[in-house]
Amino acid sequence: MGSAALAEAAKSIRDWSLANGAHTSPAVKATDVFGSLCFNDKLQQERLSKTAYRALRATITRGEPLDIATADAVAAALKDWALDHGATHYTHWFQPMTGITAEKHDSFLSPTSEGTAIAEFRGKELIKGEPDASSFPSGGMRSTFEARGYTAWDPTSPPWLLLNGNSATLVIPTAFVSWTGEALDKKTPLLRSMEAVSREAVRVLKLFGSTAERVFATCGPEQEYFLIDSNFYFARPDLINAGRTLFGAKPPKGQEMEDQYFGHIPARVLACMAEAELELFKLGVPVKTRHNEVAPSQYEIAPVFENANLAVDHQMMTMEMLKKIAPKYGLAALLHEKPFAGVNGSGKHNNWSLSDEFGNNLLGPGDTPHDNMQFLVFCAAVLRAVDRWQGLLRASIASAGNDHRLGANEAPPAILSVFLGEMLTDIFDQIEKSGGAKSTKQGGTQDLGVSVLPKLPRDAGDRNRTSPFAFTGNKFEFRAVSAGQSIAFPNMVLNAAMADSLDSIATELEAAKAKGEELNKAVGKLLTKIIKEHKRIIFNGNNYAPEWEKEAGKRKLLNLKNTVDALPELVTKESIKLLDRFKILNERETHARYEIFLENYNKTINIEGQLMALMANRYILPAALEYQKQIGQSVAAVKAGGANSVQGKKLLGTYTKLVDRFKAQTDSLVAALDHSGGSAEKHAKYMRDKVVPAMAKLREVGDEIEVLTPHEIWPLPTYREMLFVK
Ligand code: ADP
Ligand code: MG
Repeated sequence: MGSAALAEAAKSIRDWSLANGAHTSPAVKATDVFGSLCFNDKLQQERLSKTAYRALRATITRGEPLDIATADAVAAALKDWALDHGATHYTHWFQPMTGITAEKHDSFLSPTSEGTAIAEFRGKELIKGEPDASSFPSGGMRSTFEARGYTAWDPTSPPWLLLNGNSATLVIPTAFVSWTGEALDKKTPLLRSMEAVSREAVRVLKLFGSTAERVFATCGPEQEYFLIDSNFYFARPDLINAGRTLFGAKPPKGQEMEDQYFGHIPARVLACMAEAELELFKLGVPVKTRHNEVAPSQYEIAPVFENANLAVDHQMMTMEMLKKIAPKYGLAALLHEKPFAGVNGSGKHNNWSLSDEFGNNLLGPGDTPHDNMQFLVFCAAVLRAVDRWQGLLRASIASAGNDHRLGANEAPPAILSVFLGEMLTDIFDQIEKSGGAKSTKQGGTQDLGVSVLPKLPRDAGDRNRTSPFAFTGNKFEFRAVSAGQSIAFPNMVLNAAMADSLDSIATELEAAKAKGEELNKAVGKLLTKIIKEHKRIIFNGNNYAPEWEKEAGKRKLLNLKNTVDALPELVTKESIKLLDRFKILNERETHARYEIFLENYNKTINIEGQLMALMANRYILPAALEYQKQIGQSVAAVKAGGANSVQGKKLLGTYTKLVDRFKAQTDSLVAALDHSGGSAEKHAKYMRDKVVPAMAKLREVGDEIEVLTPHEIWPLPTYREMLFVK
């Protein structure tokens, strides 16, 4: 069976190469198609009246409320544009708490009394939709008798056209809320957090003399993923239903040769990437970087950073596009955080910063000491945010899938810490030691109480690939985020934590100013205090080393090793208060998310457990029994022939023991899965402590059996095939 999929994969590669072997160059010029299927600023200008355009821009850039006349005008322009492209339908696209996107399509057509139809789309329909929401997770926020859910147009994310074979659909990004106005999705809290961080950042900027009235969180997510031949994919029930392999022996060659990272991209894979990128270009998604990643058959795609809300939408579109285009090339895109044991899993490095409305990056060191002072304040705010809200940040990336990755010597550990680099750490050290600020001038450079505040180079410091939260010159990189997850929640938490820091900083500096204290002095004092309190979060060493775990323990940093330990951080009194205070999530909304994440964990482990039992009973065990029979027959045949097969008998003994153990472990897993009752929290603990270990034990025996079983009999594609046939 393994060989059948292998033959098909080989054929698929050969067919593709034959069809594409000649150097066919792309038919289009990338700059011509960029944004061509997206109702972007240029189209808005072209297709809207001046008044409507101005009103829409005011909403997009300054968050001003949109009147119905403008909504009607935008709806009409959108409809005409969509119809010009052959669209028949529109959809409100939203991001429910399933972590993926949802859409319900409605036709533009309205029948007339004459038996014909006209195309209609009004502002009302653009602004608000009402999908039947009863089947989306609400974490108990909505009972079925109040099942209404509303989608509300998010004008800050431009609509686009979904072309699919014989259809074109206008896609409108929306927020999804209950009839009481509570957020049932990932976008609403993110948008609220963008407001909060903007408000608090502006307060701080004002103290430094800025006239900015809005600040945006910016985000550039690097997506890691695997592409494997779809013949293998379809032959693995675990990949289809769990997104990861639940069995699979370590292949003779893994990633130890280090010949994969940044290596030559296989032809078929490159073609697939190129098409996905071109389609994303058309939708206005600014994807930029592609390369091979560390594990065999692992790749990365990264965009140019954007406003975090837009970046989140574009990230969802990128994941969907990869999934959609891969089959055209006989490939399957795996976005799970750990599709294969023993080689690296996939993360999604979430590059994050703040930018004012003039495009100034607030986490980029400036050219003047004054700019640097502001930069250091924002930097210190991040340190405080990560230290103060470690638990919440950890919870924001917790999932059954990420549990396989964090701390497995390939991804950051479950302990949150910040890499600052030597240079910045040194500056903060000096500030801490110098006590208050003296505010003197030295050699024309403003002093901050430290000897001389050096002019920071743009690329301040080296890189650290082991840190969960690293400063990389002009942004922070939250590296513990996982490949398969929506980045909405981690960015929301980052914004919330940062809003809290900036609020506290602004309050302190405003008070100092009111007392007539000099800014330099006040900042010096404030920075010293922040560093003293939060320097434990700084770690520039190797986060993979076991010594770090000990050191982190001494520093009393949280070490929440798995989802079940991490999730309660979401519902601590402080977390609830933080999110409520900034009007990002009220207590009910936060609790709902906690429930949903827990349930998601429970369901994931249950599905994986059931799948393992299924694969054990219906794939592996029959194959193993077949081989066991063959060995037995061979031993008997040898004996009948008058000889004595010592090694044959030995093999029969060993193999039989393994098969017996495998069957017994399967039964234990099935028994362990038969459990219900108790709260979601209790059940999650049970799943972690009983089911996950039972799965690990079963896998261990299964993998031992795999390496002894003949290729012809083994019913599943192996790691050796899946990872290396490209
Ligand atoms: P790497 O971290 O792999 O070395 P880069 O430095 O090129 O890669 O950046 C990775 C990602 O960081 C890109 O998506 C990039 O757009 C994003 N990025 C760069 N500057 C910012 C910023 N100010 N805010 C958010 N993301 C940013
Ligand atoms: Mg990076």
